[in-house]
Amino acid sequence: MKIFKFGGASVRHAEGIRNMAAILSRHQNDNMLTVVSAMGKTTNHLEAFTHAVFCKDLAAAKLLDEIKDEHFNIISELFTDLQHPVYSDIGNYFLELECLMETINPAQEYDHLYDQIVSYGELMSTKIISHYLQLTGFRNHWVDARNFIVTDQLHREAKVLWEETRNLMEHRLKPLALKNPIITQGFIARDQLNNTTTLGREGSDYSAALFAWGLYAEAVTIWKDVAGVMNADPKKFPFAEKLDCLTYNDAIELAYYGASVIHPKTIQPLQSAQIPLYVKSFLDPEAPGTEISNQAKPISCPCYILKESQCLVRIKSPDFNFIAEEHLSQIFSLMAAHRIRANMMQQSAISFSLCTDDNGKRFNTFLDALMEHGFEVTAQRNLKLLTVYLAKNGFRKESIIQDKEVLLEQLMGGTAQYVLD
Ligand code: ASP
Ligand code: MG
Repeated sequence: MKIFKFGGASVRHAEGIRNMAAILSRHQNDNMLTVVSAMGKTTNHLEAFTHAVFCKDLAAAKLLDEIKDEHFNIISELFTDLQHPVYSDIGNYFLELECLMETINPAQEYDHLYDQIVSYGELMSTKIISHYLQLTGFRNHWVDARNFIVTDQLHREAKVLWEETRNLMEHRLKPLALKNPIITQGFIARDQLNNTTTLGREGSDYSAALFAWGLYAEAVTIWKDVAGVMNADPKKFPFAEKLDCLTYNDAIELAYYGASVIHPKTIQPLQSAQIPLYVKSFLDPEAPGTEISNQAKPISCPCYILKESQCLVRIKSPDFNFIAEEHLSQIFSLMAAHRIRANMMQQSAISFSLCTDDNGKRFNTFLDALMEHGFEVTAQRNLKLLTVYLAKNGFRKESIIQDKEVLLEQLMGGTAQYVLD
């Protein structure tokens, strides 16, 4: 069984979908399951729509119309027969979204509503693609990923219930997948009460890994618009080069520090089942890409990860005292309660410094909560965090940091981190 995953960029227009069909057609005779994200920027647009629905903003209807136009423009390029069932299938999804918009319950919790709405992006992309493949003669079976990936109720960042998921995949999905190639959604799942949940932004890679793990697949291929995993983002670092192979551990470290090419949770299920992961370019499908497996040698060159929209929070104790264990325990509980992730942290005698993503509302409530607990808090926003993984292997600070101001730095093992203004 092979698992393929195509991200939003690969299916952002009709031409992308045709290209995807061409890539898949080479594997017509393999047992396979293909995971697809929402098309292009659909998830961002559905996020904006959710926000408008939640705030009862009149702009919601217009936002939904725009999403509808984007989808129907692509459909009309791919399906000339206006009677084709894809038109009514996608039309029905939009009717459901309109219903959701009109019947929103004032007591609705935001994150719950978000998952119910945003999941339509993947439902629609996979429906369109499945119909299109069928039209080109590629027989396939569309399945709803929510029937097989079961999670807790932590909306927008749901945690997988492993045993239940494995049972469903092994006993219900596998027999289907052995009959026909499967097309299914990334990112979406359900809780035990059948409410839709999502696995976190960019979570489709993780879905692909879950399907691979649950179906005991032989390999996963993630098709991207880059040649493979690079040692830096080529848009930010012109010297970036492709890595031919990576160990699971190197891949986990890179993803953890924010290398956006793979979702951080993706590697662990694959590593546990020793399933290799290939990252390949959908623009050059014959090129070898990057192989992540237990066959790889550890990488030797430094890797650079630059995260933007960072905030550096300095926290001082309420009583102008040293930062003691009880303060740390309070700070960490508040971080856990507000789901704030430390990208870097450091403690000195009188302050605790934390570099984290500035993700708006949740982050602001976290800062308020710290102040309510009496901490003195200062926050510097709009910063960057540079992580140099394997810095010990020849990284020269002056060559990259140059004239930028370093607000905080840290060297841990072979990894260097710099918070930059
Ligand atoms: N469509 C979702 C997102 O954009 C999931 C994904 O693309 O992996 O975050
Ligand atoms: Mg995406």
